[in-house]
Amino acid sequence: MDNNILGIHHITAIAGDAKRNYDFYTRILGLRLVKKTVNFDDPQTYHFYFGDEVGTPGSILTFFPWGDRVKPGRRGTKQVTEIGYSVPAGSLDFWKNRFEANGIIYNNPAEKFGEKYLTFLDPDGLKFELTVAKEIDTRTPWTTDEVGSEHATRGFHHVTITTEKMDATARILTDIFGYRLLQEEVNRYRFITDSTPYANLVDLVEAPGEAEGLVAGGSVHHVAFSVPDEATLMHFREKIIAQGLHITEKIDRNYFYSLYFREPGGVLFEIATNNPGFAVDEPVAELGSGLKLPSQYETHREHLEKVLPQLD
Ligand code: ZN
Repeated sequence: MDNNILGIHHITAIAGDAKRNYDFYTRILGLRLVKKTVNFDDPQTYHFYFGDEVGTPGSILTFFPWGDRVKPGRRGTKQVTEIGYSVPAGSLDFWKNRFEANGIIYNNPAEKFGEKYLTFLDPDGLKFELTVAKEIDTRTPWTTDEVGSEHATRGFHHVTITTEKMDATARILTDIFGYRLLQEEVNRYRFITDSTPYANLVDLVEAPGEAEGLVAGGSVHHVAFSVPDEATLMHFREKIIAQGLHITEKIDRNYFYSLYFREPGGVLFEIATNNPGFAVDEPVAELGSGLKLPSQYETHREHLEKVLPQLD
């Protein structure tokens, strides 16, 4: 059994308007909507999953678009503060021009750890980096008429967590998840796992004295780390309990099985299985085309289809 974490599984964030969120990720960023379902705890809110063709772990970004009920969040400590996507060499000009033409807020390209990156904000203020990785990323991207394979995102490159002091979070990464410190630059510490070639980086940024972040619109709700199967998932459950941390029971999320725990630095972590995946309730060619409901809400389908926002 592989007892290491296999990198990032998915990242879940909070958005405002559902159609604006859907349009931005499918059209501007060129991702595939691989699953359109509802928040299992609040079925009048969508749960969107964007990713590559099949929603490969390490490519999945999910949103709860809460509409006008959501207040804007604030970046700060105890939070995931940046989401890094991997993009091909030579693509940053394309993205910069695309953001400029579509009124997206971005910064000019910069460099860290010897890699060029471009920062931008989504319409809710969620912060991203498009990073050209040192080594060629061979993952197959989802492509659209507007975003071809020479520019398309390959999936996650890294995720950044901001903390007052990184030690306790770092220990979860190294002692439990199997990561190691790769590089450091000023107050940014980059951790890597060797168990997977992609989506394998976590940056911890130490920001003593910075205000605590507010998890609301335009901020990350949690980051999920990948394990191959349920047996490995339960193995991690024991390891986390042994650290004296509280962790949930195994939860069936239809497309994966999950555990949640709050790491000592204050960020909600999830561990999620790679099975069964998104093709469990619709064929790969049709992923994201129908509204998928967990069985407990199937009797409310007619009502939910009426109250959920129109996307097209
Ligand atoms: Zn999740």
